[in-house]
Parts: sequence; structure tokens; C-alpha cells
Amino acid sequence: MSTDTHKLDLTKSKKYYKKIWDVLPGGSHYNFGGSELAFVVPFAKGKGTNVWDLDGNKHLDLFCKFGALIVGHNNQEYNEILIQNMQKLTSVDTFDLEQELCEKLVKYIPSAEKIRFSLSGTEAVQNALRLARGFTGKPKFLRFHGHYHGNADNVIGGRYSGDLNRPEPEVFKGDLLDTKGRFPNTLQDQSFMIPWNDEKALEYVLEQRAHEIAAVLMEPVCINGGGILPRDGYLEKAKELCEKHHVLLIFDEIITGVRFGLGGVQKTLGVTPHISTFGKAFAGGAIPVSAIVGRSDIMNFYSTGKVIHAGTFNGYPLGIAAVKATYQLIEQDPDCYDRMAGYMKQIASLFIKAAHAVDMPLVVQGMPNGMVFHSQDHLVERSEGYSGEVKYCDIIIREISKRYGIQFSPLSRIYSNMMMNQDDVSLFEERIFEAMENARKIIDITFPDGVDQWNN
Ligand code: PMP
Repeated sequence: MSTDTHKLDLTKSKKYYKKIWDVLPGGSHYNFGGSELAFVVPFAKGKGTNVWDLDGNKHLDLFCKFGALIVGHNNQEYNEILIQNMQKLTSVDTFDLEQELCEKLVKYIPSAEKIRFSLSGTEAVQNALRLARGFTGKPKFLRFHGHYHGNADNVIGGRYSGDLNRPEPEVFKGDLLDTKGRFPNTLQDQSFMIPWNDEKALEYVLEQRAHEIAAVLMEPVCINGGGILPRDGYLEKAKELCEKHHVLLIFDEIITGVRFGLGGVQKTLGVTPHISTFGKAFAGGAIPVSAIVGRSDIMNFYSTGKVIHAGTFNGYPLGIAAVKATYQLIEQDPDCYDRMAGYMKQIASLFIKAAHAVDMPLVVQGMPNGMVFHSQDHLVERSEGYSGEVKYCDIIIREISKRYGIQFSPLSRIYSNMMMNQDDVSLFEERIFEAMENARKIIDITFPDGVDQWNN
């Protein structure tokens, strides 16, 4: 690190990252991180909220592996439980922890009367959709602009067409749907897409199309679409409309489950869907486990073999132990959500202060333990309602912050972990002002005529 700046010397890390492209396409394991322009910092070790890169620099990890890492890096108690479990049993079909864990989940999660485990969020959502089709006997589902539900052909990409009479998702330039290798029209054939948080739109489309819709699929708090909360009464209305039309309401709680509460955000918001999916932080963040949970009469379609569900590693002992460990750690530390939220609120206000110091607008929204920032002066209320320029500025902020040792998650997210402490806030304060000064310079070069939304 040089003496007059917090900009990190990343020589070795950059060299490694460049070399890895030879064998790892795009220098990353997914297409949301690396690119010719973006730099994915390789890390060698972590503790709590901190991770150290290959040059030995300390970073603040507010990325938390897309929100999965809730227990923090190298959490001794979590590690110990996993190690003990590995020493006890490696791989079997069913074992002596499952009943206890399932009973616990049933106790916490309002929509869970029965549970099936899987590995990724994508997989859990696909199985939830299949279950809904099996249960209702109808083929399609309805989803919402800006909500993300995994990387399968039938859920990735698309935007609202702007016409409720033609609610098939529309492709646009630069969209995830505008990529090769997808089976033609899978998304359009299987789903409809409308704006979220709009009761009238939902009512209208269900009136017209419910005869072919098995499920309404949504993020109950829309983190992927910008950190947007449901309007008062919207979730209740969605459930009422679903029940009226024999459609199942699916809450995709892959981000919100556990991160916002052990019972999912459904418990906090007081609306119980028919099926929900859990993943990411569900097993603490180091071990992949997802789950499909739901009402008994729906889940019994598995018991009777009417709906197929499979997977070699479903319910694997290490995964089950990791979910159990995560619930145990949080149960022992019930104030952890408020404590994390306290640090996150300080981080949000420092971030806004740093942006204002260089004359840039910035808002932070969502929930304290899963926040989303936008470089504009008002909250994003509709995911279709903020501009490409603002999104680009947010990417610049994230990229520049990395060079100062602050790791935000893609799509401008900020995530907490249970090991967070006041030192993390201090590190953020020490670095964010310089990072924002630099980001401002890059934004000015990128948009010499100014950012449209900042001038209105
Ligand atoms: N649903 C939501 C709401 C998500 O945010 C994600 C991942 N970002 C998924 C599903 C897919 O999960 P995974 O990446 O584990 O397949």
C-alpha cells in the first residue's frame, strides 16, 4: 500500500487473475463476475468479515458469496460442527440428524409442513415449479420483472413487454435471454412476466390466464431487482388472488431465508406462501444446501411418487450438519440480526456521506442485512424504473472499491455476517472516501455530459 493513499498494490493478485483465464473461462465460475474489464480479486485466507488477497492486502468482504456467507469466514464453532460430522459419517442416504433438523425447520418456517433438500437455488426453484405444475395440473408460471430465480432456461432473463394482454417475457439487447445455447422460446413458452408490486396487474393477468398458470413465483423482498420491499398488502393480495384461481404462491427465499430470519422473511412479513425455496445462507455459506418446503398436501405429491424429485447428494450428511449448525449458531446468538443491522446501518450512512462528499447521489435500500445501493437520489421503487446509466455507475463504484479493499456483491449488494464488528465499520470508513473520489473521476470520464438521472 502506498503512503498517501489506501489504493492497494494488487500486483500478484492481478497476475494470478490474468493467468487463470487460460484455464477458467472469463476468470470466473459464472458470468456475473469477471469480464475483460472487471477484476475478480483472488483470495488466500479469511477471518470474520476480512479476506486477504495474494499480495497480503486485507479486504472487507461485504460480498459474502452472493449473500450466502452469514456465519463469517473461519467461524470456529461452525467449522468444528462440520469437522465432527465428517468424522462421524461421510455419505449415506438418510441419517440420525434429519428428523431433528426437519422438525426444527417446520417449527421456524411458516410455510414448511414438509421439507425436501437439494443443492442449489436454481434446482430448488425448478423443483418447486414442477411440484406446482403437478399439484395444479397446469403448465405455466408467472414471474416478475427484475426477480431472479436461477440460471435455468425457463427463468433467466426477459423483461416485461409493457402489455398485460401479451405478458410473455420480451427479449432485449444485452439481456441474459439474448445469449446463445438456450432452447428456443423456453422462457416465453413456459412463463409470463409482469411488473411486481402492482396488484391490479396481477389481478388482471390472473383473471385472463389463470387457467394455464400453476404458480406465481416471486422474491418476497426483491433484492435482485434493486432491494425493493413489497407494498403494504401486496403479498396478502397476491396470496388471496392465487387461492381464488387455484394457483400456488411460491416465495423464492434463496436470498431472504435465514439471512433475514430463521423463518425466512415470510415470518417477518406475516404472509405464508404455499411453497418456498431456501438456499444460500441456509447452510451458513460454505456448504451448498437448498430446500423446497411446503404444505403437506402439496409435498405429499412426492410421497406418492406423483411428482419426481431426485438428486444424488440431496440430504447429504455434511449439508444437513451445516444447516443445523447455522440454525444452532443463530439460536445461541438471537441478537445477531440486530447487531449485524447496526453495523450495516453505519456502513450505509458512511457510504452515503462518502458519495455526497464528491457530489454524487446515493441511496441504500432493501433490508439491513441485505442492502442494495444505487447512485441516484431517490429509492428505486420498480426494478424497471432505474436507468442503465445509474446501473453502470454502480458497477464503476463496485469495481473501484475493490481496488481499495472493499468487496461489494455484484448488482450493488452489501451483505453482513455474524462475525461483523466495529473494526469492520472503521475499515470501511478509512477506505470508502478515497474509493468514491476515484469512482467519481471514472464516472466523469465515462459520462462527460453528466449522468442523465443526476441532472433531473
Ligand atoms: N433465487 C434467488 C432469489 C437467487 O438470488 C438466486 C441466486 N442469486 C437463485 C434463486 C439461484 O440460486 P443458485 O445460484 O444457488 O442456483
